[in-house]
Amino acid sequence: MKFGGTSLADVDRIREVARRVKACVDEGNEVAVVVSAMAGTTDQLAKWTSDTALLHDAREYDVVVSAGEQITAGLLALALQDSGVSARSWLAWQIPILSDAVHGNARIEEINCDDIERRFDEGQVAVVAGFQGKGEDGRITTLGRGGSDTSAVALAAALGAARCDIYTDVEGIFTADPRIVAKARKLDRITYEEMLEMASQGARVLQTRSVSLAMNHQVRVQVLSSFSNSMGTLVVDEDEVVEKQVVSGIAYSRDEAKITLVRVADRPGVAAAIFGPLADANINVDIIVQSVSEDGRSTDVTFTVKEADFERAVSVVKTAKRDVGFDRLISDSDVAKVSVIGVGMRSHAGVAQKMFSALAEKGINIHAISTSEIKVSVLISEEYTELALRSLHTAYGLDAA
Ligand code: ASP
Ligand code: MG
Repeated sequence: MKFGGTSLADVDRIREVARRVKACVDEGNEVAVVVSAMAGTTDQLAKWTSDTALLHDAREYDVVVSAGEQITAGLLALALQDSGVSARSWLAWQIPILSDAVHGNARIEEINCDDIERRFDEGQVAVVAGFQGKGEDGRITTLGRGGSDTSAVALAAALGAARCDIYTDVEGIFTADPRIVAKARKLDRITYEEMLEMASQGARVLQTRSVSLAMNHQVRVQVLSSFSNSMGTLVVDEDEVVEKQVVSGIAYSRDEAKITLVRVADRPGVAAAIFGPLADANINVDIIVQSVSEDGRSTDVTFTVKEADFERAVSVVKTAKRDVGFDRLISDSDVAKVSVIGVGMRSHAGVAQKMFSALAEKGINIHAISTSEIKVSVLISEEYTELALRSLHTAYGLDAA
């Protein structure tokens, strides 16, 4: 069982979580609980860090931001003990959950569950601080924002758990963000691949890395609400999804920025000269479009980056101008990416076409398109995000009755 920040927001909520865990134990299960920090805590800790030193030592950042999970782990263990359940807290270094030493964005390498399993035999519940690792350098690490999902899936895999239930403040995975699309429906099941696309295309319920980990280790994940008693969404293999939709969901991200280089020289090595320096600066590039060269001498290149990297990307490209050789740079951060996702796309024609005509009908212009086997993404002006989501939801027949 994993509980997120809103489920642990104060002592009353923590007691409520303890009741849920107790109910699960009383059904005869051995339970490990992974906690994240109280809602807002990690933001506050991160802010204190950058207020103290803007360019801070990442190892000390990890010492500070990992602290929120230590508090909730201890409190939940206390609340469980208070309700008569044997429980103890575990910090990552005590288990240990070993990671690489990429501070602030570490990857789990190995988990040794022997001690936790021994305590299971004694009927004890393990309350594990999520988000943390013990780095190769012997120091505390964190797994990137939202990383306690990954802690939970990794622990479930290491323990060979029957399921990994991720409790959050929404009822499950929806066909689209229900705050925008009133007719969005909760999905009973979604495939790992679709969930992976949903998470990486902007649906913020699960950390993307946790989904690929679940897929690789075949961990059955359920996303459900800690504020109700209804069933959530199961993330499963494709053959377990009975009713396959062509499109299962629509995701969006406003956190996008577009950069166009006009009249780039059309010769070998130019793309490398643009994207090499961006990679060196650790800037992730998403969509890339290169137009055909009309005169055989020059072409236009458009690409997108996260808004947080936008200013840096512009300056990196400007610095590379001498090696690349382009006329002009046009940039726009008021763009959003909307993606339709579904494994059924593999075997159905006309999915992209439906998207384009639905957008055209609303007069929404498409700036760039990118596709994968099970996804079509378009870049549009940010102001049309809501309109696009609602129109597409209707066009693909996803609206609730
Ligand atoms: N507390 C961490 C964060 O806010 C980890 C998590 O909640 O998953 O990013
Ligand atoms: Mg989260």
